[in-house]
Amino acid sequence: MAWRCTGRTNAELISNLAASGLIKNERVLQAMSGRAKVDRAHYCPDSSSAYEDSPQSIGHGATISAPHMHASACESLLAFLHPTARVLDIGSGSGYLTHVLANLVAGTSDAERTQASGGKVIGIDHIQPLVTLATNNMCKSTDGRALLEKGRVEFICGDGRKGYPEGGPYDAIHVGAAAQSLHAELLEQLKSPGRMFIPVEEQGGFGAQWIWVVDKDPDGKIRKRKSMGVRYVPLTDAPR
Ligand code: SAH
Repeated sequence: MAWRCTGRTNAELISNLAASGLIKNERVLQAMSGRAKVDRAHYCPDSSSAYEDSPQSIGHGATISAPHMHASACESLLAFLHPTARVLDIGSGSGYLTHVLANLVAGTSDAERTQASGGKVIGIDHIQPLVTLATNNMCKSTDGRALLEKGRVEFICGDGRKGYPEGGPYDAIHVGAAAQSLHAELLEQLKSPGRMFIPVEEQGGFGAQWIWVVDKDPDGKIRKRKSMGVRYVPLTDAPR
């Protein structure tokens, strides 16, 4: 689906994602392009390609993922993104998806935003300049700055493969870089019920990667579903 949803403006990009069925739910539409919209131009260093439906370089070997992947992740995790949800965004990079996830947790209307309901999204990346970049990007909008100031979003530097137990357990975990496996630490940090959206490299698969949607049932049982084939940068050791 790459490229197909490119628009000239943020609103056109998001409307194309909806028209092509990648955004199905009104809540996702509102979180990406409603009153508290997340303008992708705030997160792309090259604003001339901000509304392309493709990944863009953000430096340090990282990319902001393609809009159709952000939309798919939000749709998949949606049932777990409620006002009291704890969410971990691993490989937060530009901070774009962390901001959209926070809109889904905190809501986008004034009434929802004034309620202190306890939900929080933590973005974790192992490159400190990207943690700073994500924070600065979010501060480009009044709504983004308010989410940070109220503690509804926090960016931290660390190895996302280990999760962030201090902030969990999590209703939803999003992984924005390709893992070697379904790391046990991450499964442990999922609530019952909870859901993880994670790209995983297929062993012996010549670089093939698949999104796995992993559910922890209310009784703690793990269920895994192989979803779509994807191409993400790898989850790695931090550069020296
Ligand atoms: N969701 C981000 C994707 C950024 S690309 C966005 O759309 O902007 C993937 C990110 O994963 C990079 O920022 C990279 O620094 C980070 N990353 C890779 N390995 C990691 C690790 N072990 N721990 C934390 N972050 C990691």
